[in-house]
Amino acid sequence: EVTIRDLSKSFSLGGRKLAVLRSLNLDIRSGECLVIVGASGSGKTTLLRILAGLERPDGGGVAIDGRDVDGVGEERAVIFQEPRLLPWLTLLGNVAFGLEVRGVAKQQAEERARFHIALVGLAEFTDAYPRQLSGGMAQRVGIARALTVQPEILLLDEPLGALDAMTKISMQEELARIWSEENVTMVMVTHDLEEAIYLADRVLILPKEKGGAARLIDVDLPRPRDRSESRFVRYRE
Ligand code: ATP
Repeated sequence: EVTIRDLSKSFSLGGRKLAVLRSLNLDIRSGECLVIVGASGSGKTTLLRILAGLERPDGGGVAIDGRDVDGVGEERAVIFQEPRLLPWLTLLGNVAFGLEVRGVAKQQAEERARFHIALVGLAEFTDAYPRQLSGGMAQRVGIARALTVQPEILLLDEPLGALDAMTKISMQEELARIWSEENVTMVMVTHDLEEAIYLADRVLILPKEKGGAARLIDVDLPRPRDRSESRFVRYRE
């Protein structure tokens, strides 16, 4: 479980202080899919970066299973909008890389990488290079690369934001499947409300205005979800 207590973060902007997160409290349940939405500038990425340990809060903090988060950790993997694959390595090399830098022997790393490349449906591209992939395929490699280090928590910052509409829909289905098969806690930022409702157990809405409170909404729909129903979701706060 991830515990967020009294979390606050400000940035200085032209001599002024801009409060982005204001005393946020939230418990993220193990194994849930929490989706973060909110207006541009409401602090979604900032919150995700603090959870990842890439940014330090000014006040309050984050704990995972009771341990305070201080910097990055092996139990968390982050997926950004652009996967930034290493162009000189094959898919296998790219996915195995994260394991090898963690000291996993090459053969074992490649075995695990092959498993996750197959999981995202790219087995036949195992020996291809990043330049030979479409945007959706490259993002799938990014997902495989994150999963292969077997994180407990997967943090995704608009992972499908750069994809065209059709690819986006199939990738949403893929994320839903991966989440259900992988026993991982997912925290994802998106701008797309339909995507949020399709994937989330709960949706966190960050306020933009000063003094506004974050709201948490339960998505009370069975899985796997029927996309056609998602827009008629009934919610309770
Ligand atoms: P978007 O939906 O546009 O991606 P967001 O909700 O993810 O926005 P953040 O990226 O978290 O918002 O940014 C929140 C606010 O904090 C913005 O006003 C931004 O200008 C400011 N901000 C973020 N990072 C920094 C930084 N390193 N230095 C100064 N200001 C920052």
